[in-house]
Amino acid sequence: YDDRDGFIWMNGKMIPWRDAKTHVLTHGLHYGGSVFEGERVYDGQIFKLTEHSERLIFSGKCLDMDVPFSAKELNDASYEVIKANNITNGYVRPLAYRGAEQMGVSAKGTKVHVAIACWEWPKYFFPKAGDAAGLALRTASWRRPDPKTMPTQAKACGVYMIGTLAKHEAENNGYDDALMLDFRGRVAESSGANLFAIRDGVIYTPIADCFLNGITRQTVMKLARDMGYTVEETVIMPEDMKTFEEVFLTGTAAEIAPVSKIDTDITYTIGPVTTRLKEAYSDLVRQKAKAA
Ligand code: PMP
Repeated sequence: YDDRDGFIWMNGKMIPWRDAKTHVLTHGLHYGGSVFEGERVYDGQIFKLTEHSERLIFSGKCLDMDVPFSAKELNDASYEVIKANNITNGYVRPLAYRGAEQMGVSAKGTKVHVAIACWEWPKYFFPKAGDAAGLALRTASWRRPDPKTMPTQAKACGVYMIGTLAKHEAENNGYDDALMLDFRGRVAESSGANLFAIRDGVIYTPIADCFLNGITRQTVMKLARDMGYTVEETVIMPEDMKTFEEVFLTGTAAEIAPVSKIDTDITYTIGPVTTRLKEAYSDLVRQKAKAA
């Protein structure tokens, strides 16, 4: 991703894409002192931008790291960078990280740097069985940690180490993504998106008490309730998964992504609730784009 034309916003300046570099002794690279965001641009408008900018600052705070820009400044910078790159439909990636000013576990002497990049990213998931079939998930051996072990509500880069391990395990076995359980053995989410499941017209989703309470998750819960569905945040155990009729994932990059298979024994069809929600979500993100 480093060798291409375009611009990346770094600490208040627009830098040519290839020059947006950092030193190898960057603290964030050695000790995981870094947080990020993922935003989508629809028709030139960044959906839920302020929520994302505020979450970047919140994630920083969870790591005892003060992001040196306000949400308003981050919002403005995000628009500057999509304009500089002519992106009207795409993805925005803000990153805040501790720099190379100090080595060692303590980061007291480091500065917090912020970069914002953007690119076209029409689709996050490419199901092996095809879009019409949906995603195949494999239950991961890696679990979402206890909130006392890691700041699990933060979109912190370090937390993604577990996601990458889980996703590789799934991919190595021919699956699209991982179904991750939490430290108690409850169903949590995938490696990069939240999970919803439908039974008898009721929509269930795991309680987000040890993984990211996604902005898309919150949007979809409200959207579904506005459409008249009952949405329940509840404990879902792995053995419950076979009792659902439909399952889908949600995330900024993933949007609403239907699941067709879990492990070797559970299959779902892409049903009416998923289909209706997918359409309604697609309308919502674009209506907001028009209204803004
Ligand atoms: N969980 C994880 C691990 C993620 O990486 C993401 C994507 N940011 C989500 C959930 C969904 O979050 P959001 O809807 O805010 O993009």
